[in-house]
Amino acid sequence: MTQAIVGGKQRHFSAGFMLIMYDVVIIGAGPVGLACGIEAKRLGLRCVVVDKGALVNSLLGYPINMEFFSTPELLEIGGYPFPTLRYKPSRQETLEYYRRVAQEEGLSLRLYERVLSVHGEDGSFAVETEKGVIDARKVVVATGFFDVPNRLNVPGEDLPKVSHYYREAYPYVGQRVAVIGAKNSAAKVALECYRHGAEVSLIHRGSALSDRIKYWIRPDLENRIREGSIRAFLSSTVLRIEPDQIVVDGPAGHKVIGNDFVLAMTGYRPDYAFLEGLGIEIGTDEDRTPRHDPETFETNRPGMYLAGTVCGGLRTSRWFIENGRFHAGQIMGHISCGSVEALELQDRIWKTAE
Ligand SMILES: Cc1cc2nc3c(=O)[nH]c(=O)nc-3n(C[C@H](O)[C@H](O)[C@H](O)COP(=O)(O)OP(=O)(O)OC[C@H]3O[C@@H](n4cnc5c(N)ncnc54)[C@H](O)[C@@H]3O)c2cc1C
Repeated sequence: MTQAIVGGKQRHFSAGFMLIMYDVVIIGAGPVGLACGIEAKRLGLRCVVVDKGALVNSLLGYPINMEFFSTPELLEIGGYPFPTLRYKPSRQETLEYYRRVAQEEGLSLRLYERVLSVHGEDGSFAVETEKGVIDARKVVVATGFFDVPNRLNVPGEDLPKVSHYYREAYPYVGQRVAVIGAKNSAAKVALECYRHGAEVSLIHRGSALSDRIKYWIRPDLENRIREGSIRAFLSSTVLRIEPDQIVVDGPAGHKVIGNDFVLAMTGYRPDYAFLEGLGIEIGTDEDRTPRHDPETFETNRPGMYLAGTVCGGLRTSRWFIENGRFHAGQIMGHISCGSVEALELQDRIWKTAE
C-alpha cells in the first residue's frame, strides 16, 4: 500500500495501482455536458462525463409526448445532423439523437453516479462520487436545473397527489386537476389534461396568462378558458392543499376547489446547496447567478467551470440547449489554450422565436 496527497487529501493506493488523472471531469450528462465532452475529446483532452442518473436524465423526465419548441438544427451538438420526421423534434427523437451522438463519439460516461463534492484545487481536483473518486485537472459543472422544483411552500404540498413534474394525461382521466402556474408548461399541461378527460382548474397568482406562452399555444388556452372548458383562477394563490380540495386566495376572498390532483408547474432552480458545496459563490442579484466569467465560464474557484442552464441561476430561461451548447467551445478553448475570444452568446436567445 502506498500513500499520496491527491486533490488535497491523503489517499491510499494498492501496490501497482495506476492513478488515472483526467484533464476534465464534466458533472452532468445533459445536452450541454455532452457538448463539453465532445469538444474536450476533439481537443485531445482526456475527459469523463458523470451523471447521477441516465444519459440526458432531465430530458428523460420531460412529458412523454412533448414536442420541443426548438427546430432540430438548434439542438445539434458536435456537428451531428439531427433529422426529424416533423418540423419540431419529439422528446423520443431527441433522446435517441443524444444517445446516438454520445455513442458515436465514444464519450467516456459514468452514469448513475452522483457527484457529492469536489476537493483539491486547479490542476489537482478529486471529484468524490457515490462510487469513488475521480481525479482531474479541471471540472465542469453542467448540472442544469431540473432536479429542484420551485416549491409553493404551502401546507399539504407533500401529499402524494401533488407533483411538480408532469409525464402524461392518462393518470388524470375523470379527475379534478389543479394546474398551478401560467407559463408554457402549465398551459400545455392544462390543455393536454383537459383534452384527455380531466376537469381542469388553472390557478395563477398573476392577473393574466404569461406573455411568454408561445403564440401557437396561447389562443387555444384562452379559448378553452373563455368557453369554460378550463376554469381559470387568476390573481389567486394556493393557501393550502387538502386530500379532497384546495383552498385559494383570490379577488373574491378564499375559495375552496374540489380537487384530486395538483400539478405545480412553477418551474425549477439550480441546486444551490450543491453549487455552494463546491465553493461556487452565488451572486446577490435578483437571479442569484452563480459567479462565473461571462466568456470563459470559469467560476470563482479556479479550474472549475459552469456550463449550460445552471449559469443563469434562477433565470432558467436564460440558457437552454440552443445557446448553452456554445459554452462547450468557450470552456474547452480556455482549458486547452488559456484564453478565448468573446462569443456573441448574448444574442443567441430563443432563436426559434418565430
Ligand atoms: C418541458 C421543457 C421543454 C424544453 N424545450 C426546449 C427547447 O425546445 N429548446 C431548448 O433549447 N431548450 C428547451 N428546454 C430547456 C432545456 O431542456 C435545458 O435548458 C437543457 O436540458 C439544459 O441542458 P444542460 O445540459 O445544461 O442541463 P440538463 O439537461 O438539466 O442536464 C443536467 C444533468 O446533470 C445531472 N446532475 C445534476 N446534479 C448532479 C450531480 N450532483 N452529480 C451528477 N450529475 C448531476 C442531471 O442528472 C442531468 O442529467 C426545455 C425544458 C423543459 C423543461
